Amino acid sequence: EMGAYIKEFLDENLVSIIGGCCGTSPDHIREMANISATYPAPVLQEKERLSMYSGMEPLIVRENFNFINVGERTNVTGSRKFARLIKENKYEEAISVARHQVEGGAQIIDVNMDEGMLDSEAAMIEFLNLISSEPDVAKLPIMIDSSKWEVIEAGLKCVQGRAIVNSISLKEGKENFLKQARLVKKYGASVIVMAFDEEGQADTIQRKVEICQRAYKILTEEIDLAPEDIIFDPNIFAVATGIEEHNEYAINFIEATREIKATCPGAKISGGVSNISFSYRGNNVVREAMHSSFLYHAIQAGMDMGIVNAGMIEVYEQVPKKLMTLVEDVLFNRNSNATEALTEYANQYSGGSKKRERNLEWRKLPVEKRIEHALVNGITEFIIEDTEETRAKANKPIEVIEGPLMDGMNTVGDLFGSGKMFLPQVVKSARVMKQAVAYLEPYIEDEKEDGASSSNGKILLATVKGDVHDIGKNIVGVVLACNNYEIIDLGVMVPMNKILDTAQKENVDIIGLSGLITPSLDEMVYVAKEMEARSMNIPLLIGGATTSKAHTAVKIEQNYSGVVVHVLDASRSVGVVSNLLTDDENEKKNFIISTKQEYQRVRDAQGKKDLSKLYISLEEARKNALQLDWENYTVPVPNKLGVHKIDQFDLSLLIDYIDWTPFFQSWQLAGKFPKILKDEIVGKEATKLYNDAQSMLRRIFDEKWLSGTVSYGLWPCNSDGDDIIIYDPENADQEIERLCHLRQQRRKAKANTNVCLSDYIMPHDIQGRDYIGGFAVSSGFGIEKYVQDYEKNHDDYNAIMLKAIADRLAEALAEYLHEKIRKEFWGYAKDEAFENEALIREDYRGIRPAPGYPACPEHTEKAKLFSLLDEQKIKLTESYAMYPAAAVSGWYFAHPESKYFGLGKINKDQVADYAQRKDMDMEIAERWLTPIML
Ligand code: SAH
Repeated sequence: EMGAYIKEFLDENLVSIIGGCCGTSPDHIREMANISATYPAPVLQEKERLSMYSGMEPLIVRENFNFINVGERTNVTGSRKFARLIKENKYEEAISVARHQVEGGAQIIDVNMDEGMLDSEAAMIEFLNLISSEPDVAKLPIMIDSSKWEVIEAGLKCVQGRAIVNSISLKEGKENFLKQARLVKKYGASVIVMAFDEEGQADTIQRKVEICQRAYKILTEEIDLAPEDIIFDPNIFAVATGIEEHNEYAINFIEATREIKATCPGAKISGGVSNISFSYRGNNVVREAMHSSFLYHAIQAGMDMGIVNAGMIEVYEQVPKKLMTLVEDVLFNRNSNATEALTEYANQYSGGSKKRERNLEWRKLPVEKRIEHALVNGITEFIIEDTEETRAKANKPIEVIEGPLMDGMNTVGDLFGSGKMFLPQVVKSARVMKQAVAYLEPYIEDEKEDGASSSNGKILLATVKGDVHDIGKNIVGVVLACNNYEIIDLGVMVPMNKILDTAQKENVDIIGLSGLITPSLDEMVYVAKEMEARSMNIPLLIGGATTSKAHTAVKIEQNYSGVVVHVLDASRSVGVVSNLLTDDENEKKNFIISTKQEYQRVRDAQGKKDLSKLYISLEEARKNALQLDWENYTVPVPNKLGVHKIDQFDLSLLIDYIDWTPFFQSWQLAGKFPKILKDEIVGKEATKLYNDAQSMLRRIFDEKWLSGTVSYGLWPCNSDGDDIIIYDPENADQEIERLCHLRQQRRKAKANTNVCLSDYIMPHDIQGRDYIGGFAVSSGFGIEKYVQDYEKNHDDYNAIMLKAIADRLAEALAEYLHEKIRKEFWGYAKDEAFENEALIREDYRGIRPAPGYPACPEHTEKAKLFSLLDEQKIKLTESYAMYPAAAVSGWYFAHPESKYFGLGKINKDQVADYAQRKDMDMEIAERWLTPIML
């Protein structure tokens, strides 16, 4: 339906709403708009040959795959600690080194036991065998690293999956090389080939390239080794050693990489990254900067993986500019005293491991400037002492707020308004502001000032009755508070009476209503009508994911003679509110008049649209239903029928299932993860936000802040028209529930059908039963205490962060469970192996449409789902919102043809039919279906 709007009316506003709607992708929208014809069909490609490694889980190197980190700490020559543990036979502890690498982001683990005092072969066997019983480590592919072939072969016999041999080379001639390569092939491993031949290790571009090309030819032509199983290591050597020819080593590696990638198709490039900075041992700041720059350039040249200490790479953008210039002068041999200059700079940091000098220059500024600096940069550390300093000087404590604090916040407001600060920074500024204000409050009380408010206005915010979502509303509250508006936040599920009584009692200047699910739209209409009945005339703001300008204009504004404004997102709220509350009466009047005219225009346009011709009758739509070929379909029978529960789900299992992109959206940072971290404009803030999220995730997992619950069920079923009949798993003749679905009624172009979810289920008049699943998961139990603690400390930043993370975990849990269903519990896709990205794209067979979403937008069906699941923990509000808010539920369809679609609008005939099928009063049915009725 949204697609249709885009196509026909190019409604700017709707485009943004679609952007904000969960589950809409550009493809969906195109499909819905029936404009897919203008996009070429995907061209089927020749079977791609991808490099694949595996432990218990596969690592498939697809095109555009990110750089692969190979953990280096499980190496007795590289890590003193690891060497000691192995020598002292403390294998258990040694495994924790490996685990640490996994947690630090390693995707492959390099294991090296080459040490004179060790029986390397025995140590390799012992360690690899131990790892294999540690699923969190054994899931990764192992890189068996040794200069002794016997050790490698011993290792190959222990590992599960496709390991990587590190390494073989032409050092001892072609014959030996071929012998080892044949064995690698026999063991089904991949292999690193060092750029090393009879004459020695290659250090120039030419030698590196020649040796690798020669090895490539031998391996692919003489023993038919697949190119994608070859990884070249063209040798990373230390630069800045004081020997002139070494100054070219970084360039040589990078340029050789480019050339090898171009001439040896399919082969990959790896290298030991920390070698490059060997001359700066003991100075991690410089080393980290060197690694990040070197990798940045080598990856662009085609480097695919590297042995690194993930903790020893600084984010490229975060390296101070000056240091980066000096580092790159060295790496690219840009001038003759580059090494000296870097060494000199490095001495400032000498001995400096992670502990960096903080720049505290700003502490020397006058106190007003320090306060501004703290606000703009979100630094709470000195705010109390600075606030006290100004308070002591001021005549009245309130002057501190009105003076330096408000001035600082105005700067923040200006920077945000002009796009130079982003939402997460503003929320951090608010934290500083709130702490300062909290410190001043007792003094203000003491002075017994008349309590006259110095704020720009009082605003009441509430999430309406039946709805529990409040991230967006909280952000609006923080942003407005930053602009010196006093906020009264009534929280979630607030009944109309409480909103209006409080508004009148507190004499507020504006009411803002928020809601995320469609039934909330109705509740907002109700509040507006009641405001009219109470003869109120303060402005009403409308916001939240399902709200829109069109809905506000058509359904809400008409019911209230005061001003009603739809606010698209938090960043617009300040503009709207300041227009409404300005002292400049003219400006205010103009804004109100133009808003009213705008909404009138939207209504007129809506009124003129006669969409009825675009829709067909329910009867016609049913004739044009999707017909699947049931005769040739084998129904996959679930392995675990019936209802099952997991009460204490270990949320840390979800780390690889998180879709981060929506997390950034909730902070109004636009862009796809992980690219967003390197984004020119928001990259820096996105990275900080992401790092903060990672540390909070750690605490959530380690300290068990949240707990997850899972309910799922699998039942025999058949479709009956637009209904789906569910049978008792114990007795498949016994009907236990009947789901009512809705069918698209929009007139379709020739080949397109009018789909209903029931079309994906085998009809009852065909022999046999089909199956359907259902689930409800939540990760929000236990969250309140922590949110309250943060809020008590005036820390909205972390309060919002926690809610946003809990939401992510709920979605990740849904993704995780769906995978389990496909692979095990239902088991129709046992051999499926998708990476996070593919899971997020939902590349798999089957769907999990959620009641309330576009294919099944009617919320009351959720009650049937919850009753089938006998769900006791997650609650449904009167609007069928799930509580805790961090919860996801839906149905499972397994048919390979099943796809998400948008129902679009429906005609009155279907409303009547639906009311009858559900045995509902027409009036009630209409209430639930309003948002989708033509
Ligand atoms: N990776 C995302 C997943 C959530 S949005 C995240 O972490 O936020 C995708 C989900 O929304 C789907 O799995 C499905 O449950 C629901 N959904 C999307 N489109 C839908 C549609 N047209 N009808 C019903 N449910 C839909």
